[in-house]
Amino acid sequence: MAKISKKICMVGDFSVGKTSLIRRFVDGQFDDKYLSTVGVKISRKEVEVAIEGETKNLQLLIWDIEGQTKFKAIAPSYLQGAKGAIIVADVSREETLDNIITHINLFRSVNPKGQIIIALNKADLIDEIKLQSFLDKHKYTEFDTIDTYETSAKTGDNVNRLFQELSGAILEMK
Ligand code: GDP
Repeated sequence: MAKISKKICMVGDFSVGKTSLIRRFVDGQFDDKYLSTVGVKISRKEVEVAIEGETKNLQLLIWDIEGQTKFKAIAPSYLQGAKGAIIVADVSREETLDNIITHINLFRSVNPKGQIIIALNKADLIDEIKLQSFLDKHKYTEFDTIDTYETSAKTGDNVNRLFQELSGAILEMK
């Protein structure tokens, strides 16, 4: 049987942990050293998704911008053809949370039907109360309606779940 492959993109500000989330998910590792090169890197990972009691295999092609700089905007061409996006923010840097909406809008402008999931990453760095006050502040905004996970590429918390949920949403797309 032909394997189903789907492109997903990591989208977010500089240094929020996009590459680290992929590394944790694909290789089960975390690296504290700062690694970056220039270009786009595509990682592959097979996932199994149960839909209506049936197990389906999906190959994720996970696109990541390497060497993303603080000031360079994400090019729409990078997002083309993506069935889904993981919008990543760093809970210890509030401006990256405020920029979630901008990233969502950019992704939707290229892929109106694409699935979106939000990763509030580096959850190991902040206490629950501070995070909750941020989430309360953004209640009833657009992103409150999108599935949001607190993740840590460092501890591995919720990382599999994040990719798994997005895969399920993509396979359920009509
Ligand atoms: P990217 O630019 O969004 O791809 O970010 P990177 O994956 O390169 O991560 C930027 C920095 O944040 C690196 O020093 C990582 O080690 C660190 N980092 C990434 N995820 C986490 C996390 O969940 N917790 C902590 N404490 N540090 C993280």
